[in-house]
Amino acid sequence: MGHIYEDYYREVRDSKGEIVEIKTTCPPNFNFAYDVVDRFAFENPDKLALVHRSAEGKETRLSFGELKRLSDKAANTFKKLGISKNDSVMLLLKRRYEFWISILALHKLGAIAVPTSHMVSAEDISERAMVAGTKAIICVNSESICDKVKEAIDKNDIIQIVVGDKYEDKADFNELIAGESDVFERVTTSIDDSMLYYFTSGTSGAPKAVIHDYSYPIAHIFTAKNWHGMNDGDLHLTVADSGWAKSAWGKLYGQWFLGAAIMVYDYEQFYAADLLKLLEEEKINTFCAPPTIYKYLVLEDLKKYNLNNLRYATTAGEPMPKEVSQQFTSQTGIVIREGFGQTETALQICTTIEQSSFPGSIGKASPLYQIKLMDEDGRIVPAGEEGEIVIVPNGNRKPIGIFKGYLGDEKMYEEVWSGGVYHTKDKAIMDKDGNFFFLGRNDDVIKSSGYRIGPSEVEDILMKHPAVFECAVTAFPSKNRGAVVKASIILNKGYEANAKLGTELQDFVKKRAAIYKYPRIIKFIDKLPRTSNGKISRAKIRQQDYKKALEHC
Ligand code: ATP
Ligand code: MG
Repeated sequence: MGHIYEDYYREVRDSKGEIVEIKTTCPPNFNFAYDVVDRFAFENPDKLALVHRSAEGKETRLSFGELKRLSDKAANTFKKLGISKNDSVMLLLKRRYEFWISILALHKLGAIAVPTSHMVSAEDISERAMVAGTKAIICVNSESICDKVKEAIDKNDIIQIVVGDKYEDKADFNELIAGESDVFERVTTSIDDSMLYYFTSGTSGAPKAVIHDYSYPIAHIFTAKNWHGMNDGDLHLTVADSGWAKSAWGKLYGQWFLGAAIMVYDYEQFYAADLLKLLEEEKINTFCAPPTIYKYLVLEDLKKYNLNNLRYATTAGEPMPKEVSQQFTSQTGIVIREGFGQTETALQICTTIEQSSFPGSIGKASPLYQIKLMDEDGRIVPAGEEGEIVIVPNGNRKPIGIFKGYLGDEKMYEEVWSGGVYHTKDKAIMDKDGNFFFLGRNDDVIKSSGYRIGPSEVEDILMKHPAVFECAVTAFPSKNRGAVVKASIILNKGYEANAKLGTELQDFVKKRAAIYKYPRIIKFIDKLPRTSNGKISRAKIRQQDYKKALEHC
C-alpha cells in the first residue's frame, strides 16, 4: 500500500529525473481532517503528530489518534453550541495546541476557520468579525486578548470560547470538550466549499480576507515534501503564529499529509538562543522561518549548538538578504533555500531539495503552476527582462491552492485576475536557467530619472556592510528625478550614526551597483515600520515621505 499523500499527488519526471508536472487528485468530498488525520489515526494511532513546548517549558505530545479523539470531541462541543456548516469561527489562539484541535474540528463540521493574529486590535477583530459574519470566537485566555475580544464583540452576538482557565463567565474549551463524545459523525463537505478565511499581512495596505476551499491542503504536499524536504516521521518547525497563512504552509497540511510531526514553540518573547536550544534539544529535522528570524540567529554563535539532526532550512515571506544566508551557511553548512508565495496561493517559486540553490534567487517555478513574467502591456517577457510574476492557468480550472475570492471584495478579485492570469503584484527577473530574482512589489519598485530600481538589490548590498543590521530602500519624492533612492538603516551595535558613515555607505553601494542605484538619502533609524507579523512595510515609509513632501509644496 502506498503512502496516504500518494492518493492525491503524483510527480511526473523527465528522462533526467526532473519533475515536469505534478498531477493532483481532488476527490469531490475530500476533507483533510477525516481523510488524512483520521486515516493516520486509524492506521497508526500512536504515530506522533504534534510536539508543543509552552513558554514555561511544559511539553505536550499528541499522536494522530489523540488528535482524532480530541477534534471529534471539539466538533461535538461546537455543534452543541450552535456552530454548523458554513459558519465562520475566528481562532485567536497564538501557538496554543488547542488551535490544531479546533481547526480540525471546524473542518469536520464544514465550518469556516478564520485564523487570526493576536496582534490585531479590538477594532480589527470587530471589523473582521463583520466581514466574515463570525458566529464564534475561540481565543486564548490572556487579559490582552480577552479584553480586546470583549471590546470587539460586546456590540455583536457572538459565541465566545476561551482556552486556558475561565474568563469571566465564558465557556472554557477544555472543560467543555472533556465531557463530550469522542465519536463525531462525518459531515459531508464538497471540495469547493469555503474552508478558511486568511487575512493577508497588510504590507501594502489594509489586509484582505482570502478564501480557500477544501482542495487547498493538497497544494501543500509539494511545500512540505519538495521544499521543506521532510519525510514521514520527521519533526518540522516553522516559526509562525497560527494567525498567518505561513502556519498553514508549515505547521499543518503538508506536514501531516507526509506523516511528519510538527513542533510548536509557544514562546512569549523571542530569543534567538532559546530557539537554537530548542532545535538542538528536540532534534528538529527541517526548519523554516522568515528572514527576520535568521537575521537574529546569525548574531549568535551557531557552532555552539548541535544541529546534526537538522537537514534543511528554508525561508519565505520577505526578501532574504544574501549576506544573512551566507553567514548561516558558513556556520551550519546548511544552505537556506528560499520560497516565494502568497496568502492567496500555495508555494509558487522555490528551490527544492533536488535543485541547487542559486545565490540571491528565490528559486524556480513550482511544477504546480505555470509561472511567467509579464510587462505592463500584458506581454510575457523573455529571460533577462523585468516583469510581474503571474500565474497562467492551465485550462479552465482554477490552479490548485489558489484562493477562490476576497471576502467582500469581488472587484479586487477581478482585478488580480485581469487578462485571465493571476497577478501577484510582485516584480522579478528570470535568468535563462529559470532562476527567479525578486525585485520588489510593484509599488516598491523605484522609478528614478527613467530608471527602474528594485529595492531588494540595493538592500542586499547595504546588508553586506558591517555597520548595517537591517534596512529598507524606498522611493523618496524628487522634483527633478520623479523619485530618488532612500535607505532607512538600523545600525549594528557599536556603530555611530553620522554623515561620514552615510557617505561611506553611499560609496559602498556605488562601487557595487550601477551608479543610479545608490541611495541619495540615508536615514539612520532605530525601528522600521512593520506589519503585525513582522514584515517591513516599505509602503509606510514611502507614504510618510510623500505626505511630508506634499505638506512642503
Ligand atoms: P498584503 O497583501 O496585505 O499587502 P502581503 O502581500 O505581505 O500583505 P502575504 O500574503 O503574507 O501578504 O505575503 C505575500 C507577499 O510576500 C508576496 O506577494 C511578496 O511580496 C512577499 N514575499 C513572499 N515570499 C517572498 C520572498 N521569498 N522574497 C521576497 N518577497 C516575498
Ligand atoms: Mg499581498
